[in-house]
Amino acid sequence: MADTTITHWIDGKPHERAAERHGEVFNPATGEVQARVAFASPGVVDEAVEAAVRAAETWRSVSIARRTKILFAFRQLVDKHQHELARMLTLEHGKVTADALGEVNRGLEVIEFACGIADLAKGEYSENVSTEVDSYSIRQPLGVVAGITPFNFPAMVPMWMYPIALACGNTFILKPSERDPSAANFCARLLADAGLPPGVFNVVHGDKVCVDRLLEHPRVAAISFVGSPPIARYIYETGTRHGKRVQALGGAKNHMIVLPDADMELAADAAVSAGYGSAGERCMAISVVVAVGSAADKLVPLMKQRIAGLKIGDGLEPGSEMGPLINRAHRDKVAGYVDRGIAEGATLVADGRGLSVAGRPGGFFLGPCLFDHVQPSMSIYQDEIFGPVLSMTRAASYDEAIRLVNTNPYANGVALFTNDGGAARKFQHEVEVGMVGINVPIPVPMAYYSFGGWKASLFGDHHIYGRDGVHFYTRTKAITSRWPDPRHRGVDLGFPQNR
Ligand code: NAD
Repeated sequence: MADTTITHWIDGKPHERAAERHGEVFNPATGEVQARVAFASPGVVDEAVEAAVRAAETWRSVSIARRTKILFAFRQLVDKHQHELARMLTLEHGKVTADALGEVNRGLEVIEFACGIADLAKGEYSENVSTEVDSYSIRQPLGVVAGITPFNFPAMVPMWMYPIALACGNTFILKPSERDPSAANFCARLLADAGLPPGVFNVVHGDKVCVDRLLEHPRVAAISFVGSPPIARYIYETGTRHGKRVQALGGAKNHMIVLPDADMELAADAAVSAGYGSAGERCMAISVVVAVGSAADKLVPLMKQRIAGLKIGDGLEPGSEMGPLINRAHRDKVAGYVDRGIAEGATLVADGRGLSVAGRPGGFFLGPCLFDHVQPSMSIYQDEIFGPVLSMTRAASYDEAIRLVNTNPYANGVALFTNDGGAARKFQHEVEVGMVGINVPIPVPMAYYSFGGWKASLFGDHHIYGRDGVHFYTRTKAITSRWPDPRHRGVDLGFPQNR
């Protein structure tokens, strides 16, 4: 094992003191441990919060012009170093280079959006609400805010949060996934190079111990979380119990409905790309294709043909289209779902369990698996598998397909493939899901819209980034002001009325 230790970033520099507990960071393509990551104790979290509290006193008063310049410089640095950052993602997460670069670029879009904070955080002003009285509102930062993020987008998901939080005048503590922690430190250094003062952005690594201290700390005003369903619920309940503003984005089971009139070649390309991209470890991955009427019999052979052509390998190898899963335990859990699907009576059309990748015998690989004739009662339909396992469910009618989507407890993303405008309009009107694609399989909104699911996919009432992000990271203050002319009217004990 390499003797690299990844440590926290507090008050503008790496944290020097040795940690009592560590985690292992694997290269999922080889199965080898390549580094260890320090786990923060409650005391270390307190140090980070204290640094962020000190920095918040001045950062909130730094001009919008200055904050924007720093963010713009950061944007330039991320852009310049995108290949280095993408390589880091591949080495720790396993996703292939093109996918890692895509992640960095979607993160960049949020930084670019945050550079427009001057317009986004404007208040309102009403003159003469009463005689000689004006009313206006201003948006102010919350103070110290924290982000707790998952393993599957170690650069982009934190970027959904901190560029906007910082632009709004907050200081930030990031607790990234302990499984791929390096991107957080890399971005912390780029922020410092861009001119961000010490303490404005901090990184603490760790597990539940570290998260729990953030959830309880009285000086942390808000928590943004993205991760698995049970932890999202826990974060929301615990954080709000401690008086914090919380947005907690959870799991997904994204359906893609294909109507018989759709372009089947396009639908097959989309289902395979969205089902197996990033080895299915995306919260917006398609995990169920709902084929209506005759669509399934056309789609299954087209998908099978495409699956057979996919190149699975080390993400750093040119030409690899799908990499390994994050670790051995997760790989085995996903393979276990394939066994269960067979036992439950679904038809396994493509089986990736026997895959071996040349030169990478220890890698956490699992080939693409496709089930047909999946029933809603089966565990492969109900559970978020988070791996390269795609289910095909057959529906007799379009209404039945929409009902399936609307009765699912998750409601993150959904897609419809059709050539019928009326069917598409009915879909966008009736479907009960936060992010909807029409002939688009992964409808991740642009940075100037907000990202978020409905129902069990989101705890809290703000979606992430976009205008919702600005609202989440600010609180409004309404001011009523009178600058009377010298002819004032003397004492009046009546309730103030607008005249
Ligand atoms: P996870 O819930 O295991 O971990 C997320 C974060 O929570 C990590 O930082 C982790 O250290 C921390 N954590 C884990 N267990 C904890 C505990 N018991 N107490 C306190 N903190 C804890 O999620 P993951 O496996 O890293 O990521 C995959 C999940 O994230 C999937 O369910 C996926 O759908 C979801 N996800 C959702 C979105 C979305 O936008 N809805 C986006 C990306 C990922």
